[in-house]
Amino acid sequence: MTVENKHRADNKTLREFYEATGSKGVLWIDHRTGRIVELPVESRIRRGEGGCQLCHQDLDGTEKHGRLQFDERRLPRLIFGPGEAICDECLEWVRLLDYHAENGSVATPRFEEGDLVLRAATEEIYEVLDSKLSGISTAGVWFPTYTCQRIEIRPGTGKILPACMGLLFEIPDCELQPLPPRYAISTSRLHKLGHRHRSVDLVGGTPDRQQAVTADIRTNPTPMLPDHRPVLLLGKRGGP
Ligand SMILES: [Zn+2]
Repeated sequence: MTVENKHRADNKTLREFYEATGSKGVLWIDHRTGRIVELPVESRIRRGEGGCQLCHQDLDGTEKHGRLQFDERRLPRLIFGPGEAICDECLEWVRLLDYHAENGSVATPRFEEGDLVLRAATEEIYEVLDSKLSGISTAGVWFPTYTCQRIEIRPGTGKILPACMGLLFEIPDCELQPLPPRYAISTSRLHKLGHRHRSVDLVGGTPDRQQAVTADIRTNPTPMLPDHRPVLLLGKRGGP
């Protein structure tokens, strides 16, 4: 077997592995509650035929073409040129995987449903509607993305209004930051929704043990924004 053939066979094995295992969970200790939480990690490599070569969804004419390879870390890389089609969202996913693999993942979602966030590049304000982890947990690379609605804060009253006709945007964690204090928000908005992560009891769940974990983990640094920003192609989802 030549090196090229061997590489092709490895690629096929990995691809089938990801298709078969689908999305896997990742565990960590939540720094706010001290509890172990589990969230599923959504991979875009899905079983199927036709359409986009990763997710197999129908193409809309904006797709690119290229050849998918897996590197030594088992992460997908796209070599542009002749090859099968890949949709915009999968292309962005591959780029984010590459970015987080190089720069260290911001694995813990920093924002929750109802949080107001600032998009660093544009100074636009968004409300987080939903969050999910994306990536490949078996390769140890994952990152939070948020489904957001763009909003505006009315000066004076602090009232929040939807902007952009209520369009929804999917934005990765590294693009967002907490809303700075200079934005005046009406106080009713400061009420947070409950913590939605599902807790997993791995240690028997006595109150003493949980406090021990809590004390330990609260000294951990909070996730930081990356030093430089990646070049991203951000698609928008949904519509009016
Ligand atoms: Zn796709």
